[in-house]
Amino acid sequence: MGKNVLVTGGAGFIGSHLVDALVENNRVICIDNLSTGRKSNISHLLKHKNFKFIRHDVTKPLNIAGKIDRIFHLASPASPVDYRKNPIKTMMANSLGTYNMLELARKKKARFLLASTSEVYGDPKKHPQPEDYWGNVNPTGPRSCYDESKRFAEALTMSYHEKYGMGVRIARIFNTYGPRMRSNDGRAIPNFVTQALRGEDITVYGDGKQTRSFCYISDMVKGLIKLMESEYSGDVFNLGNPDERRIIDVAKKIKKITNSKSKIVFLPLPKDDPARRKPDIKKSKRFLKWEPKVNFDHGLKLTIEWFKDILKHKS
Ligand code: NAD
Ligand code: UDP
Repeated sequence: MGKNVLVTGGAGFIGSHLVDALVENNRVICIDNLSTGRKSNISHLLKHKNFKFIRHDVTKPLNIAGKIDRIFHLASPASPVDYRKNPIKTMMANSLGTYNMLELARKKKARFLLASTSEVYGDPKKHPQPEDYWGNVNPTGPRSCYDESKRFAEALTMSYHEKYGMGVRIARIFNTYGPRMRSNDGRAIPNFVTQALRGEDITVYGDGKQTRSFCYISDMVKGLIKLMESEYSGDVFNLGNPDERRIIDVAKKIKKITNSKSKIVFLPLPKDDPARRKPDIKKSKRFLKWEPKVNFDHGLKLTIEWFKDILKHKS
């Protein structure tokens, strides 16, 4: 029977899908303080014999009996709205939280994977962004609580690798979307889909010419597991879909697919909002033999179906 795997942030959007993929063949412990995640994301697993949920804040040390072979560390707010609401908690989850989870990995001799982010590239001057680009981050701006604490988490992870020879991997996750995102988490796709389905104004920030590249959740989960099980310790890999789109086009597409009568309105662009973002995934393709497979239209349809269902039950 597989491995003993611990997933922090396992009741969140990406974490809960990761747990779903792991739980059939492994024993999985999910650690979450339910700050931005939800119990409903894992409620279907609570009776599963391979699954255990522990409500715990990773900024506090964690002692767990028994063997742990793998730690996926995802616990951190991820949406700009969430991390701006709780900047200090965000910094602590990524600094103290990462420290506590690395210490646990050291004691248990477990392999450790850090969920980092494309935000470490800031508002990038290089396009698309390869792993060896050092980024362009404002250290005191509104996004700095997230960007800089993730950069710190990367540096800490590498320090444990160097000092103790620990098996670590860093995933730089680019924008990911799919079912189980919160309709109010403030990110572009859940906002646009919810607004379109409710007939509310679709809120595009700035002129909408800024770009993002969206990866469907099932592709991301496969990438995270491949990286964890790869031989590349002490290394960093971009995980994301290079299908780059302007935000205004994403809004229009969602309006069209949902057959919505919503108006697209333009609101001020938040400070330091990156102008362009697209992962260079040559390294992941070559070494992990991973690349995203789900195209944007299909991923959006699956996401919209899910939100339709959720909103129906809410009303
Ligand atoms: P999410 O908010 O849905 O999930 C984060 C989870 O971590 C939540 O369940 C939350 O309750 C939990 N958490 C937060 N602070 C905690 C703490 N101190 N102790 C215990 N649990 C805590 O967000 P997500 O989109 O699933 O993101 C998961 C990870 O992936 C994050 O580390 C994020 O930085 C990274 N990431 C996500 C994206 C994306 O597009 N979704 C992009 C880049 C990086
Ligand atoms: N965005 C938008 N309207 C919204 C939410 C987001 O135009 O209602 C824009 C946001 O300014 C950014 C892009 O969409 O340029 C992606 O935002 P998101 O919060 O999803 O992710 P991130 O900025 O972290 O990439």
